[in-house]
Amino acid sequence: MKKLNKKKLEGIILHCTATKADQSVTVKSIRNWHKARGWDDIGYHFLIGTKGELWAGRSMDYQGAHTKGHNNAIGVAYCGGVDEYGQPKDTLSERQEATFLRLVDTLRGIFGADTKVMGHNEFSSKACPSFDVVEKWGAEFCAQDVDLGPELPLDEIVDED
Ligand SMILES: [Zn+2]
Repeated sequence: MKKLNKKKLEGIILHCTATKADQSVTVKSIRNWHKARGWDDIGYHFLIGTKGELWAGRSMDYQGAHTKGHNNAIGVAYCGGVDEYGQPKDTLSERQEATFLRLVDTLRGIFGADTKVMGHNEFSSKACPSFDVVEKWGAEFCAQDVDLGPELPLDEIVDED
């Protein structure tokens, strides 16, 4: 796996797992699925569970495997993103959103306040993460550290293995 170039980090790219909102997906299952696709490890650096749990995926020492041509970025996926028919739907819950915003805060503390927040669909014709990131949080927040107001506490990052 290629080392992450932290100085040239593109930003944080949000994905969804394209599973139903109530379907729990584990790091282990995604890791197995991604390995079956020939990747060395889970493609995302973080996974946000259906209840807002934050799980560590691929080590941030390495580039991700989540966005073609834009993998020198931190990949985060939330569990969900499709409706009962498997069609794209914004299923990001309040709890998942809170976890993501706290994670962004933490990552901006590590990589810099101007670390961008982007959605997979900004780089691909895919619907992922099933909403427009800029529309949801605003262009200002997506470009730099902006306080969006009170946040729920971040659950401890759990390493599933
Ligand atoms: Zn994606």
